[in-house]
Amino acid sequence: MFSNIFNLLKKIFGSRNDRLLKQYQVLVNIINNIEYRISELSDSELRSKTEKFRDDYALGKSLDDLLPEAFAVVREASKRVYGMRHFDVQILGGIALHNGKIAEMRTGEGKTLTATLPVYLNAITGKGVHVVTVNDYLARRDAEWMGKLYNFLGLSTGVILSQQTSKEKKEAYLADITYGTNNEFGFDYLRDNMEYSLDNRRQRSLNYAIVDEVDSILIDEARTPLIISGSFEDSSDLYIKINEIPSLLMRMENEPDQQGNELNGDFWVDEKNQQVYLSERGHEKIEDILKKKGLLKQGVSLYDHNNVYLINHVLSALRAWNLFFRDRHYVVQGDEVIIVDEFTGRLMTGRRWSDGLHQAIEAKEGVSVQSENQTLASITFQNYFRMYNKLSGMTGTADTEAFEFQEIYNLETIVIPTNKPMIRKDENDHIYKTDKEKYEAIINDILDCYKRSQPVLVGTPNIESSEYLSRLLKKQGLQHNVLNAKHHADEAIIVAEAGKPGSITIATNMAGRGTDIVLGGNIDRLISDILKNVKLEDFKKNKAISDIREEWKSKNELVKQSGGLRVIGTERHESRRIDNQLRGRSGRQGDPGSSCFYLSLDDQLMRIFAGDKLRYIIDHLKLPYGEAIKSGMVDRAIESAQHKVESRNFDIRKQLLEYDNISNEQRNIIYSQRNEVLESNSLIEFIDEMFKDVISGIFREYVPINSVSDQWNIADLQKRLESEFQISINILDLLSNSGSNDFDLLNSLNKKVFFIYSQKRNLIKESYTGVEKLFLLQSIDYHWREHLSMLEYLRQGIHLRGYAQKNPKQEYKREAFEYFSVMLDKIRHDIVRNLMIIDIKLNNKSDNDVFANNDDFNKKFSKTKRNETCPCGSGKKYKHCHGALN
Ligand code: ADP
Ligand code: MG
Repeated sequence: MFSNIFNLLKKIFGSRNDRLLKQYQVLVNIINNIEYRISELSDSELRSKTEKFRDDYALGKSLDDLLPEAFAVVREASKRVYGMRHFDVQILGGIALHNGKIAEMRTGEGKTLTATLPVYLNAITGKGVHVVTVNDYLARRDAEWMGKLYNFLGLSTGVILSQQTSKEKKEAYLADITYGTNNEFGFDYLRDNMEYSLDNRRQRSLNYAIVDEVDSILIDEARTPLIISGSFEDSSDLYIKINEIPSLLMRMENEPDQQGNELNGDFWVDEKNQQVYLSERGHEKIEDILKKKGLLKQGVSLYDHNNVYLINHVLSALRAWNLFFRDRHYVVQGDEVIIVDEFTGRLMTGRRWSDGLHQAIEAKEGVSVQSENQTLASITFQNYFRMYNKLSGMTGTADTEAFEFQEIYNLETIVIPTNKPMIRKDENDHIYKTDKEKYEAIINDILDCYKRSQPVLVGTPNIESSEYLSRLLKKQGLQHNVLNAKHHADEAIIVAEAGKPGSITIATNMAGRGTDIVLGGNIDRLISDILKNVKLEDFKKNKAISDIREEWKSKNELVKQSGGLRVIGTERHESRRIDNQLRGRSGRQGDPGSSCFYLSLDDQLMRIFAGDKLRYIIDHLKLPYGEAIKSGMVDRAIESAQHKVESRNFDIRKQLLEYDNISNEQRNIIYSQRNEVLESNSLIEFIDEMFKDVISGIFREYVPINSVSDQWNIADLQKRLESEFQISINILDLLSNSGSNDFDLLNSLNKKVFFIYSQKRNLIKESYTGVEKLFLLQSIDYHWREHLSMLEYLRQGIHLRGYAQKNPKQEYKREAFEYFSVMLDKIRHDIVRNLMIIDIKLNNKSDNDVFANNDDFNKKFSKTKRNETCPCGSGKKYKHCHGALN
């Protein structure tokens, strides 16, 4: 009913599509009018237009102002470089692309060449243009092919390919125009956001992208996000060794006394916060043990920045032994440690504790320690492509998905008319009762074509049915090719030949997509091989080429007489769009052709969505064996079944996107902060802020806001600072030097802590920013990864919330936000802690070169025990002097 109203409205107002095309047509006329003038220019005058456009743009002209002349220049260059003159419809398509729309242009209409118009125009800005293809083969092919044109006009072209180094990539991104696949563009974005130095980043800004086969990339692939995952090097050995340490340490029943005396044990347990703290003695003992076990080199400190992770391991092991108990916090089933939900008692299969705790418990229980395959970074294509300042796309089949493009990407679809009228005959579906009858009919159809030298392209839904059909054809002794979208380059060559007289090609969905099927076969390769042959004289080359052309002409004629390319579909896809893609392989540029789908009641789509009614009809018709129904009514029933599936799939994609939008927001925050850190010359202000945050947070656990000194727990505060951050400060001293209220105290504490830190970093001023950067980035990355796993887990479980009358999406949003702020706290806390406990060694050659060199000094320090007097001559204990650096 809707479509009726829609048609009616069209009749009164004309559709929006028509209106836009009319607007664009005005520009096409202008471009045609200046064609003659432009064609008078010499090659170098034509090329110098590029500079002129750049200047005009710099002086404030808009790309829209430049469009008519720029498009005319590209068309003229194409005539000279390829002998191809952009059709008017290609200009229409080019304008649509420049305007950030999706241009629906049928297969064979020349989308590759169409794209050169907006690519050139937008490259004038110097901000980069990305052309996105579905596979490496097409990226390389189109970059080479169209690169000739850009080069002629003085623009550079690059291509990004999966096997390139990051340096090669960087160069390709610096080019005016960059071709590559959606995967590679997306992965490079993620990779860049995992780099630790600005120089290593590949991409510059995401300015303008044209996505070829846009439906396949933004719709079909939208259901699986890009994920970079890494299994961290197998550290199960380490966990097992560290698991032996807790039994060697002595637990203190009480916390150290007020004076910080701690000689009675190695660690104590804070049950409330589920934390374990080490005493000074504990630290020393652990250092010794680690050295004995070969986990720490002799002469190297546990507080070296490379070794801080070891303390974390030990702490995890201590928590595993002292705070987490079998059959209460977790159960052991088979070879696995499974968490028990503390509120519901439900087993949380598949979920893991973070920060290495789960592995520590696995080591404690003697089950295998699993190396985690962790998501390091992920993004959906939707969210990647939405970051471009301007996005556009082209495909043969967008119209059926126009609503989704609009709704999700805010992309409008414009249907561009074909250059020549389409004369392909699309037959009604042939519907059989059984698969057996269906395949017999398909084989007969193929045989018939073969006898008449008509080429056939058979489309199958999957590799399995391709192979099945191939076996049937072999039985008939029919020679054929099978393509599975695995070897893009080889398959492109085969598909190019699929228009030869009598050729039979079986292909799954995506196989050979993007390669033109020319009736009579493709002779481009033959010709270029001859041209490349240096041994051949020119006149012989010309002769050979004209022979090939003659031969092709008669083959082309033969195929046209036989009815052009015949497309056979062995099943209908869930989506009409995919069926239209297949049909579209035939009937390009006004060629003759035909298409037909063979179905049976055994097909999945028929069984599930159109089955009962159709089966009823077919049973009633009492069809004899081998007879098919062909009727428009049945076709419509199938179409409506497809429609149902499409809208269900749309809902699934939309849902996914809504969830992903939440992590997307968080990703943007993290990545932009990360970039800020990466790009800064000094981090001291960031760090000052973080210290204040973290120290104040801890301070307030012991000293309530607006409280009187009776309520203060200074002793515990002091202990906490010492054990967690190795900050030893006499707070009572501070108090006597500052004002008497809690704010004053906090103030002087913050100042003091930061002073301690500054002193430490001042030892090697110039290079310390590098160390800080590393710490910040590592901490952000680590916690972001952990956070990603948390979100994944949250999402998997969130539908269960539905039972509690809660809106799962809202719940997810709320909890994801909470996790996020907890994560930010953890990051800050971690950074402060690590920066405070790291030892600054005045030199060590094996060490990171950010550390200053002073061999003598270092040897003395590294041999000193923490309770011995400091070798600097101060008379203080090492741990209170250079050992603590405060
Ligand atoms: P699509 O991607 O739209 O299916 P292609 O870009 O692969 O089509 O082009 C199909 C064929 O049409 C190519 O061989 C190309 O050289 C040819 N072609 C495109 N535009 C023109 C034109 N203006 N004049 C002549 N041939 C063209
Ligand atoms: Mg194409």
